[in-house]
Amino acid sequence: MIILANSEATNGIGVSAELLQQKHNVLDALVEGISIVERDPNVRSAGYGGWPNMIGEMEFDAAVMDGTTLEIGAVGALQGTLSATKTAYQVMKRLPHVMLTGAGATRFAKECGYQDDELLMPDSKRVWRNKIDKVVAADQLNDFPNIPLAPLSNIITDPERVRDTTVFMGMGHDNHIAACTSTSGWAWKYPGRLGDSPIPGAGFYADSRFGAAACTHTGEMTMRAGTSRAIVLAMQLGHNLEQSVDLAVAELANLKCGFLGGVVIHAIDKHQNHLVVNFRCDETIRYWYWDESLPKPVQRIATKV
Ligand code: ASP
Repeated sequence: MIILANSEATNGIGVSAELLQQKHNVLDALVEGISIVERDPNVRSAGYGGWPNMIGEMEFDAAVMDGTTLEIGAVGALQGTLSATKTAYQVMKRLPHVMLTGAGATRFAKECGYQDDELLMPDSKRVWRNKIDKVVAADQLNDFPNIPLAPLSNIITDPERVRDTTVFMGMGHDNHIAACTSTSGWAWKYPGRLGDSPIPGAGFYADSRFGAAACTHTGEMTMRAGTSRAIVLAMQLGHNLEQSVDLAVAELANLKCGFLGGVVIHAIDKHQNHLVVNFRCDETIRYWYWDESLPKPVQRIATKV
């Protein structure tokens, strides 16, 4: 049994580990853990603690993948609830679809009984409002948000707040592998923008026969390079974990134009090896790891590549 999660998982990974020890299904265990993170105000990248889009609305992206059946549920630009991952799980369980977005995702969440009144934390609202007051031209402020937003998207990007996501992946007592992701996406994103977190093969992928991968940071790159799928496919083709991640990093490094930034890749293989690499992120990247030999999850530092 093993769980790998990113630094945001502090308050959730222990619950997932306990559930795995009690022999719960691996995806159930991961969803319980990540759902705690979504309600943790100290996590400034997913759920309640996350950042709004350009017009001050929270829009959540999330996904789950069962690596044994290869079933997926995903939601994009979900509003009205913090339970993004649970909604994604219900998409997988109850619908003949893989992904719902926008109004449809919001409607479905409500149908599932997931609804929250408060989505935007006062501190996030304050930081967003300050940003808007700074970047929107004085003669447009009165009309905001009914102004062209596209010119803003290139100047509003805030390197300190722009990113992060929470990702969980693991292997259960029965060798089943699963992964899930949840994020509020980039701070100040254009409304309706989806990142990589709900996109199968980009922000996450899991296959119990080989392993799993999930990414954080610049989703605009991992969507172009199909990073998570590339890693699991490389394992299928016989590469080991490190070689598979190296290959995906080389594909990211090959991107020469468009929006470029850092990417963090989290990956496990079916032999319970794990690897977390920091590709071009300036800050120190930490992650959480647990396996059955450890009394509790431990925090480690990602390898810089
Ligand atoms: N990858 C996420 C996205 O592109 C954000 C992040 O992890 O920083 O929405």
